[in-house]
Amino acid sequence: MERNTRQRGAIRRAFQRTNRPLGTDEVLELARGEVNGLGIATVYRNIRTLVDEGWLDTVQLPGGSPRYELRGKGHHHHFHCSHCDRVFDVTSCSGSVHTMVPPGFVLERHLIVLGGLCAECAAIT
Ligand SMILES: [Zn+2]
Ligand SMILES: [Zn+2]
Repeated sequence: MERNTRQRGAIRRAFQRTNRPLGTDEVLELARGEVNGLGIATVYRNIRTLVDEGWLDTVQLPGGSPRYELRGKGHHHHFHCSHCDRVFDVTSCSGSVHTMVPPGFVLERHLIVLGGLCAECAAIT
């Protein structure tokens, strides 16, 4: 039981520390430093529980493996780096998406995914 609590805590802290959407492999990499012998199956299981408990949201990008992020962040979008495959938050939002809506349609939500190189990758390529 105590081991489970420690694993869960390390996984939560990985999200709080990085403050960006993380894939299971990234969570494993980050939490492993805190919990010896942490395995990918444990990470999967804990992430599923944290989603069920409403602590994490699933971020599904087109053609990508799912990432997870802290729930309740407010309206934001994502930037996917094609070089390192990391996903970052974009906090600004174009105010003009409503101009794209066909006449008679009612806009209820929108998703914007930007792609390219993150600052770190842009600096080395
Ligand atoms: Zn990058
Ligand atoms: Zn928006």
